Amino acid sequence: LSALFEPVQQLSQLYNTVQSSAAALNKLFTILDTEPDIQDGTHDLPHRGELVVDDIGFTYPATDTPVLGGVSLRVADGERLALVGPTGAGKSTVAKLMARLYDPTVGSISLGGIDLRDATLDSLRERIVVVPQEGFLFGGSIADNVRIARPGATDAELRAALDAIGALERFEEFEDGIDTEVRERGSRLSAGERQLVSLARAALVDPAVLVLDEATSNLDPGTEVIVERALDRLMNGRTTIVVAHRLSTIKRADRIAVISGGRLTELGSHDELVDLGGHYAELSSAWESSLPR
Ligand code: ADP
Repeated sequence: LSALFEPVQQLSQLYNTVQSSAAALNKLFTILDTEPDIQDGTHDLPHRGELVVDDIGFTYPATDTPVLGGVSLRVADGERLALVGPTGAGKSTVAKLMARLYDPTVGSISLGGIDLRDATLDSLRERIVVVPQEGFLFGGSIADNVRIARPGATDAELRAALDAIGALERFEEFEDGIDTEVRERGSRLSAGERQLVSLARAALVDPAVLVLDEATSNLDPGTEVIVERALDRLMNGRTTIVVAHRLSTIKRADRIAVISGGRLTELGSHDELVDLGGHYAELSSAWESSLPR
């Protein structure tokens, strides 16, 4: 009887595996679904260049209220720009458009003179990488989870990417190192370690432009330092647009763009905007007392 039972048990285990990978696939498709109308272009995006946002307006599909109206920005090659402003102002939407998760309804965004709409999707995904607040982790090893960003990467490239952001050392403390299995959503990893995986994915792609949606939650102080250092290393020498929630990130940006009600209302360095005495000055004094450092 047990000889009969065993295959059934195996079958049901297999079924569970299939089911959970189907669930993972569904999630992946839900993510991919955010770009249903994105058409492939024919130009390769250059390796470097100015990121130019030219008078963009945007209305989400199947809605009729514009969330952005007439935003223009020029981000120099290698510059670090923080987007700040109240919740619902349109900061993440600007970031999503920069990574072409959607196309602007009006206006255009270009990198090194090439309109993102004219770029091949392959070159776009190599040059501009979005790091979400919480990257999705699937069941598999840490290495598998990083490699998804560039499936053709060699083991050496994978280790180099982890090392470049200072995460290799951390994961090698685990008994199985980077081969440590994580469960779906990464339940075996701390919040900071999950962020390191997200950042390592970006390092593996090695893009010209990083679009970061900074996590709002506090990390434990031990990991916080590692994640901040990883971020600094990743941003170094790269054009970075960060939807910033922490004063420390905002202060380290070259310039700050204040987005309010779907418009760019202030633009300048921290000191310039404090001197201006406008919305940012007000926000920053409030942040000084309330936000995580
Ligand atoms: P912020 O990042 O500044 O908090 P968002 O860019 O996320 O603001 O949102 C700007 C506006 O767009 C908000 O009113 C929000 O409700 C709306 N919005 C965001 N995402 C979507 C979406 N996928 N579909 C429809 N409306 C959205």
